[in-house]
Formats: sequence, C-alpha cells, structure tokens
Amino acid sequence: MFLTISTTGTPERPATDLGFLLHKHPERAQSFSTSHGTAHVLYPEASAERCTAALLLEVDPVALVRRGKGRGGAPDSALAQYVNDRPYAASSLLAVALAKVFKTALHGDCKAMPERAAAPLPLRIEVPALPARGGAALVRALFGPLGWSVVAAEPVALDAEFPEWGDSRYVRLVLEGELRLADALNHLYVLLPVLDDAKHYWVAPDEVDKLLRAGDGWLAGHPERKLITERYLSRRRGLAREATERLELVRLAEAEGLDVEDVDNAVDETTDTEERPVPLAQQRRDAILSALAEAGAARVLDLGCGQGQLVQALLKDPRFTEVVGVDVSVRALTVAARRLRLDRMGERQAARVKLVQGSLAYTDKRLSGYDAAVLSEVIEHLDLPRLPALEYAVFGSARPRTVLVTTPNVEYNVRWETLPAGRVRHSDHRFEWTREEFRSWVARVAGEYGYETGFVPVGPDDPEVGPPTQMAVFTRTTTGNDENTDKNEKEGQA
Ligand code: SAH
Repeated sequence: MFLTISTTGTPERPATDLGFLLHKHPERAQSFSTSHGTAHVLYPEASAERCTAALLLEVDPVALVRRGKGRGGAPDSALAQYVNDRPYAASSLLAVALAKVFKTALHGDCKAMPERAAAPLPLRIEVPALPARGGAALVRALFGPLGWSVVAAEPVALDAEFPEWGDSRYVRLVLEGELRLADALNHLYVLLPVLDDAKHYWVAPDEVDKLLRAGDGWLAGHPERKLITERYLSRRRGLAREATERLELVRLAEAEGLDVEDVDNAVDETTDTEERPVPLAQQRRDAILSALAEAGAARVLDLGCGQGQLVQALLKDPRFTEVVGVDVSVRALTVAARRLRLDRMGERQAARVKLVQGSLAYTDKRLSGYDAAVLSEVIEHLDLPRLPALEYAVFGSARPRTVLVTTPNVEYNVRWETLPAGRVRHSDHRFEWTREEFRSWVARVAGEYGYETGFVPVGPDDPEVGPPTQMAVFTRTTTGNDENTDKNEKEGQA
C-alpha cells in the first residue's frame, strides 16, 4: 500500500526542496522498520519542475496479528487474521507509518528552510487504493473543507476483467491544493484511518491527545468533526465524547474570542443530565461546605474531585487551610488545574492546594492525617464489588475524623422531567441507591470502622421520594491508631 506526494517548482524554488521538507533525500531510497512492517521512502521523479515522494508500506501480516493479540481486539476468525486487506490498502497502518517516517515534517519543523515549511506549496497527493467507507461523497466532505480539491475519488472495480461484479470499497484518491506540507500530512494522518474505519490497532487513551495535536488548527472547525473523532477513536464512546467536548471548547472559545476556561465552566454545568432541572451541583457544594465548617475541619481531602469545582469553592474560604483534590482521571485533573489557574497562583495560595492522581480503590499513605474527606458523587462510579476496597482505603487507612459521602437518591429520579423512566442519571453510574439502601450501607461501614453518622438532605426534600441527593456525615468515634484500626488493617490486608 502506498501514497505519493508531489509538488511542482521553478529554477528559483525547485520542487526537489520537498526532500528537505520531508527530511528524506531524493537521491536515496530509505527504509524504516515500523511496528507493522517496513516503510520505504523513494522518489519516482525528482527535478526542479516536479518532484514526487512515495511512501510504501510493506506490511508483515504475521507481526500484525501478533501485535493485535492481547489488545482487546477480538480476532474475527483465525483465517481473517492472516488473510485480510491490510497489506494491500492504504489505511490506518499507512497513517502510523507516515507519522513515524515523516515525524519532523508532520510537526512543521525544517531547520534547513523554515520559511518553505511555513508556506503553502502546490501539492498533489495520490493514493491508488484507499479503503473508503462512505465512498466518494465522504471523501469530498472530509477533504473539501480543508482547502483540497478532490481531483479524483473514483471507485476501484472489484475486478477489472469483470466490471459486472461492481465496485470494491476502495477509491483511487487524488487531491490537489496549495497547502503547508505539515497540514497536508496531518490531514492524511487523521483522515486515512477515518475513511478506512476498520479495526484499529492502536486506540489507547493518549489517542485523544494525538488526535487533538494532529487536528490542531483545522479539526475544531471542520463540519464533520464528530464523524472524524468517532471513527478515529474506533467508536469508543467514552474517548470520542471526551475528544468532542474538548474540541467543542476550542471551537467555542475561538468563535467567541473567549478564554477557554469560561467556556469550560459553562459546558460542564450542562453535560450532566442531573444538573439541568436545578443547579443541584451548587446546592451540594454549599451543603458540603457547611458540614465541613460545622465539623471544624481545616485540612480537607476531596476524593474523586473531578474537574475541581469543590476544590475551588473550598479555596475561597480561608477556614480551609489545606485542600487536596484526588482523582483517578488525569483528564479531570488537567481541567481542574486549568480552572484553579494553578500555574498563575501566588505562592501562599499554591501552598494550600494540591491535585493528586490516584485510585481510591487502593490505600494511599498520602491521604493520612487530614481532618476530613469528601466523597461527592463518587461511590456510584465504582462497581459494587470494588466498593469495599474504597471503604477500607478511606475509613480504614486514611481515617480522617470526618467523612462526607453524597450519592444520588434513585427514588427521586421519577421527579426529573428529562430522565426516562428506569434510567440512571449519568451513563457512568454503576448503581443508584434508595434512601434505605444508602442508610444500610452507611450503617455497616460506620460499624466496621468506628464512626457515628448523620444524614443531610440536599435539594428539595420531596415528601414522597425524598431529596435528589443524599449526604451522610461520618464522625470517627475512636482515635486514629487504636485497636480498631489495627484490626481493620489486618483484615484489609488479608
Ligand atoms: N466530586 C465531583 C466529581 C464526581 S464524578 C463532583 O461532585 O462533581 C466522579 C469522579 O470520581 C470522577 O472524576 C472520576 O474520575 C472519579 N473516580 C471514579 N472512580 C475513581 C477511583 N477509583 N479513584 C479515584 N477517583 C475515581
């Protein structure tokens, strides 16, 4: 499978400059080993008037299958693993090879001729066999808005000798345009796998970052950005949603000339179905702040802090001298850091706050010695069998004097107009409890770890179904290092 990149030139601006821009000399054929086979770069033509670089990927189907194993990609069938179109068609693998072989050019760097790298060139891209789910129409919809003219997107016949068999799912693609080489390469890097839409071999959480980096400057404003992100991320809904949200922020901020952070605040208030009918999140934060103040807590852990709204509220109150936000999601912590403007904070304020990545399903020494811990809308994000691990980590190991736990009251769900019957409030909720279920969980945990408890309704306390959010206030009845702790520690380790 291969593609070619051509440009034209003049004696003053020779086309062979393409070799400098790609960091590959026109007079030498070069080979690179990639994770799926060998990539070759060669120049079928190289004169001042016209220069063409070809990238050819020789796929090793056996290596491909070996790499595919253990990555969660269920093989279709034993034979299909070895006999598929991967070796012949331009596809996601070609995109991976392109990124590796032309890495510097993809970033737009060229020490030898920076001004050439920064300027548009007359470019022609040819991909003789491009798997294109969506056909010529989609090819045009994807490349058209980026300044390319789609010279050809012709379906390739299944078999040239038997036209009656119809067309294959491949097109011969020819693009022409005046573009920066780096932009052209980034377009191909993202859009080849999008058109291919086959099973990808590399979808990992950092793919979101890679996509946004490669899409910098063009993806946020692309009319097909939703399709592009969903297909690029192989329809992994969680990842695609994250990418879409982040792109949406960039797009809105660009359109309105706003600080990204302002938009960010506006967006996350509306993404959660439960926030729409009432500003319940605000009521929850207020209830938490007053319970903490009542308990006389000064050093506070916000466990599962998410995007840092509560941390921000805590920092506004001087009673809270130290605030630590903990979350398992780096993405959430990144948003939190931006919200708090951690990088622009004065020294004294910065000394009061820390954001820590960690999982509450494991004990963590960094969490010992605080006055209070808050678990605001967190427990329902854990699978029930994992919950005892969190109980031990928080009540058995970290053991603050006060622990606040909030969780949705599922009985109240019938009062949400926007929530279809029987649905949980958030797609990531693993369970939602009735008041009774919550109370019995609270009673058991308190008994096991030596805490007294109280309950606070958050939001309108409906006479029939109770409040939308239920909050428990745990207060430790024993000191930190007594028999009970030792006993629990042994049990927890057993
Ligand atoms: N406390 C915030 C966010 C609630 S959303 C609020 O009240 O708005 C739940 C948060 O818990 C998410 O940010 C998620 O990343 C985090 N979370 C889920 N499981 C976790 C775990 N095992 N360890 C740490 N954080 C976890």
